[in-house]
Amino acid sequence: MTTSAELIEMSERRSAHNYHPLPVVIHEAHGAWVTDVEGKRYLDCLSGYSSLNFGHGHPKIIEAAQEQLKNLTLTSRAFYHDQFAQFCAGLGDLTGKDMILPMNTGAEAVETAIKVARKWGYEVKGVEPDQANIIVMEGNFHGRTTTIVSFSTDPEAHDNFGPFTPGFRLVPYGSAEAIRRAVDANTVAVLVEPIQGEAGVLVPADGYLGEIRELCTAQGILMIADEVQSGLGRTGQTFACDFEGVVPDIYVLGKALGGGVVPVSAIAANRDVLGVIHPGQHGSTFGGNPLACAVGIAVIELLNTGEFQARAAKLGEVLHARLRELVGRGVVEVRGRGLWAGVDIDPEVATGREMSKALMARSVLAKDTHGSTIRLAPPIVISEDDLVWAVNQLSDALYEFSQA
Ligand SMILES: *Cc1c(COP(=O)(O)O)cnc(C)c1O
Repeated sequence: MTTSAELIEMSERRSAHNYHPLPVVIHEAHGAWVTDVEGKRYLDCLSGYSSLNFGHGHPKIIEAAQEQLKNLTLTSRAFYHDQFAQFCAGLGDLTGKDMILPMNTGAEAVETAIKVARKWGYEVKGVEPDQANIIVMEGNFHGRTTTIVSFSTDPEAHDNFGPFTPGFRLVPYGSAEAIRRAVDANTVAVLVEPIQGEAGVLVPADGYLGEIRELCTAQGILMIADEVQSGLGRTGQTFACDFEGVVPDIYVLGKALGGGVVPVSAIAANRDVLGVIHPGQHGSTFGGNPLACAVGIAVIELLNTGEFQARAAKLGEVLHARLRELVGRGVVEVRGRGLWAGVDIDPEVATGREMSKALMARSVLAKDTHGSTIRLAPPIVISEDDLVWAVNQLSDALYEFSQA
């Protein structure tokens, strides 16, 4: 048998070093638990950055995928296929929107929203040719394409990837007033994460999303909510925008939409917006393929039960109550909503990376983001006992560091 150490060495030798994985080599997984090649089990508290909201190998999702694999996997959009209509109708109903444009990855869905907003700006709003601007937030994470990294404020994501795409205006996250000041006659959209995930699970003050909604409506600007990570049950609601009763003009969805099986992303919007796209103007060979749609339909059916949203809300209370007890005991601050938390470790106690490794040694898989923040986002199917156990491991690891 090839050992973890050997597989890691071989992986590092022959792959680009665009990630810095924890030294664990996973072989199989069910629910919230993964097993490595040596048979050691770990509790997954990352969920593929919230792609695995329904857990590893959810029976309904796997069954849908297996059934579809037997029949049809790809047609391209040159033809219709028998999973497409139901996927679009289901996602349209879930979002309350008229139309769906399916893609594959989150970044592609964000690119789609940007293209749609610009085209809408020229053709509906009447913006001067090539003058459209989109207001974006400092600390944003919307993916890795050249256009998207053009407006990233993370030097790692941005630097040396120019020349950059113009047409974006950065404002501080959390300030509706800053958006108001940045708007001009050529502003076509505000692109916002309702909760900034990669930035460390930053939850804006109550009222922020509502103010953006009002401002966009008043000024004739599209509100684009990137719910790729915050959406689909993670926060205890279907969408993080639901907490403020806000409905954006465009939802951007991905990650959990593919059930942890295949990449599935989409934007959802009404006809007055998405209707600007005509044949040949945008697309993707794999976007909306039969396997993706079959998996997406299964995901939408799970969400339509409401069970996952309710469970994330209930377990989220347990998680946040336990985490709050750690503030002042090696933890500086805890943020988040539902089954999603950003835990700032006191940099005097440990770096985020050191804490991730200490948790791994204690059979909990979590990943640091930006310095000393640990992100916790276990699959929503996690048991309450396992969740409490995971926080206890964090608590014990903090204690161990403080003794060292
Ligand atoms: C992960 C993420 C993306 C990008 O998704 P990919 O599938 O990795 O391209 C976009 N927006 C947000 C908020 C994300 O968390």
